[in-house]
Amino acid sequence: MAIYMDFAIENGLVLLGMDLIPTNVNLFIENGLIKDINTISFDASNTIDANGCIVCPGFINGHTHIGDAIALDIGDGLNIDEVVKPPYGLKHKILESSSDEDIISFMRGAMNSMLETGTTTFIDYREGGINGVNLLKSANAGLPISPIILGRDDILIKNDATENEIKSAVKNLLMHCDGIAPSGFGEINDLSANIIVKECRKQGKISSIHVAEHLQTQTNSLEKTGLTEAQRALKHGFELLIHLTHPLNEDLNEISKKQITITCCPRSNGALSVGIPPIKDILNHEINILLGTDNLMFNSPNLLDEMEYALKVSKATSQSYISPKEILKMCTTNFSKFSQRPIGVLEKNSLADILIIKQKSENPYLSIINRTKPKHIKYLIKKGNVI
Ligand SMILES: [Zn+2]
Repeated sequence: MAIYMDFAIENGLVLLGMDLIPTNVNLFIENGLIKDINTISFDASNTIDANGCIVCPGFINGHTHIGDAIALDIGDGLNIDEVVKPPYGLKHKILESSSDEDIISFMRGAMNSMLETGTTTFIDYREGGINGVNLLKSANAGLPISPIILGRDDILIKNDATENEIKSAVKNLLMHCDGIAPSGFGEINDLSANIIVKECRKQGKISSIHVAEHLQTQTNSLEKTGLTEAQRALKHGFELLIHLTHPLNEDLNEISKKQITITCCPRSNGALSVGIPPIKDILNHEINILLGTDNLMFNSPNLLDEMEYALKVSKATSQSYISPKEILKMCTTNFSKFSQRPIGVLEKNSLADILIIKQKSENPYLSIINRTKPKHIKYLIKKGNVI
């Protein structure tokens, strides 16, 4: 890792601004931020020559469970509930019976493989309450990748928990992490959902929930409550919805109207045989989408692979064109739109999390999605440090 006070990135094709417009400009980086953008050369103490390269925001993985790195490729052939449903799914049994040291070591490995494939920030859905959150923080120590940690607590899935018990667990958990994300409405009740959203909102933190991952959960929800899982999430006010593999009824219209962001995980949905999220349809509703690699048990946390799969499978299932730029935005600028933070976008005063990638074809978006392997990432820059 090289630490410069300031440096310039010159001669590259920069994917500039929220719309990732390919532009021949130079960037001046100082104190971890993009301080200036211009066509002229900067008088910097160091210069990176990005000739023949694409300069792209560092990728943001919208959904991971990196604790599952301890159980790679275990559970093949089981159904989704047998693998991941709390509290008795296979992954929960493995996590419970593993030592903290092993979980930390596997999580650290997962973060290193994210860095190799261009990810500089990820949103992790961490099991195990406060201890689980702290394990991830230990695993992250000294690594140039930023986790946004959404925790959960077992009390959320206890049906006889009192309002005070839930409130106090949620408040305690929020002292340690960036938000709360329960598994889904199959596990939590309305009281827990209300408390989570209210407390997160009060503290400016993220409330998120898995919805409509498979059709059965949607129809169960409709039968039980008259509302789809997505409608229940919107009613409670969750601000980030995971999956939406099976939107029903007015789900997409309502999500669009409320400008709620969805994280789609097509490779994970494919691996679990639950379907493919209708990305074309979701885009047509002008809904903000992030991409996530989800559970490490059956997917590497590699957004290059996720983007290629998302683009091609969505074109196949919708039998229509999907812009590769829109897919790349799902791993870069759409996060800035969701979080209102200057991360994942190359513009003045945004965080200098940057990839410099060898350009392999004329179309810069497809060059990244179709052609880029880890060896083509020439530089990874995290908060202005060249890794
Ligand atoms: Zn998940």
